[in-house]
Amino acid sequence: MNYNKKTVKDIDVAGKKVLLRCDFNVPQDKATGAITDDKRIRAALPTIQYLLEQNAAVIACSHLGKPKGEWKESLTLAPVAKRLSELLGKDVIFAKDIVGEDAKAKAAALQPGQIMLLENLRFDKREEKNDPEFAKELASMAEVYVSDAFGTVHRAHASTAGVAAYLPAVSGFLIQKELEVMGGALANPKRPLVAILGGSKVSSKIGVINNLLNIADTIIIGGGMSYTFAKAQGAKVGKSLLEEDWIQYAGEMVEKAKEKGVKLLLPVDGLAATEFSADAEAHLVDGVDIPDGMMGMDIGPKTIQLYSDAVKDAGTVIWNGPMGVFEFPAFAEGTRAVAKALAETDAITIVGGGDSAAAVAQLGYADKMTHISTGGGASLEFMEGKELPGVACLLDA
Ligand code: AMP
Repeated sequence: MNYNKKTVKDIDVAGKKVLLRCDFNVPQDKATGAITDDKRIRAALPTIQYLLEQNAAVIACSHLGKPKGEWKESLTLAPVAKRLSELLGKDVIFAKDIVGEDAKAKAAALQPGQIMLLENLRFDKREEKNDPEFAKELASMAEVYVSDAFGTVHRAHASTAGVAAYLPAVSGFLIQKELEVMGGALANPKRPLVAILGGSKVSSKIGVINNLLNIADTIIIGGGMSYTFAKAQGAKVGKSLLEEDWIQYAGEMVEKAKEKGVKLLLPVDGLAATEFSADAEAHLVDGVDIPDGMMGMDIGPKTIQLYSDAVKDAGTVIWNGPMGVFEFPAFAEGTRAVAKALAETDAITIVGGGDSAAAVAQLGYADKMTHISTGGGASLEFMEGKELPGVACLLDA
């Protein structure tokens, strides 16, 4: 996978119509439709502002939610157009359709330095099917395609990959940073490279573990998935989260790590509870065996020390997935401590999207990280070393 792609700075956009794929998939209040977190709109501003300063006419587009090809008034992008306009301090022209009469007329009339937003791309079922006719129609409104929606680069949709067949395609600043930092860490990491993997399931991280076994110097396992590894090592896991079907595989991973000289660290102690609940009492388990009738809920103090030490001496740290049930305060310490260790190390620190990104933000360490990925599924597939259609379609630098 080539991560070295052309960016908005490598292409002349002055006076040109630019189709800009954003990730405006914002959370909304179910009852009122109000945007409850505008982080994704704010994140898109640097690329939008750059394009407008360069005198491009910007035709922004995005999906919102899962309308599955149907027109759903509750998922209109109109509130996003309004919020974007407030943040930019300028008019955002809103099209009532995607590639229909209104969008095409507004795009044709759009002047350099102006911005418009198309209606929710997924209102048209051809979007997710990567229909070439739909991609062609989208492309017909513009002269350049800029992709800045990292959260959807793992999907081959019309607006994320298909349009690149008809327009010169480059990345915006968000994708550029993902490729530089994450791509750099995978292709040519500052060593030692320490990967910390947590979360609930081994099965959802198999691809990542497999790929990182070829790249990382140390792999640290925490969270619910660690009990499948513990079981494979002959430990007792009580009623902890366990994926029976993956025990053998977890054992093979441990062997593979040994063969490759990759240090694989597993929890050496933990906090357990008799039930999965926020007010369950935390019992310290000083060792790898979880007593019968109990479930492992977090890593313990010795494990925290072990993992923090590994992070201290790292050149690069990649983290994806919480170390315990961090949603419950009594079992959030492991995740908090790992976030703190990342915040304090001199290493390049990269936090995959999703839960670990949320945890880092919630704990107030967001500005201490080198990079927090803007895509959950996309950053996992990135770490798996998979080819991402939304990146592969961009022009090579
Ligand atoms: P994932 O979606 O696979 O990244 O996993 C995130 C989820 O894993 C979070 O909701 C955590 O609460 C959960 N999790 C972490 N550790 C444990 C554990 N020991 N037992 C059960 N769930 C866990």
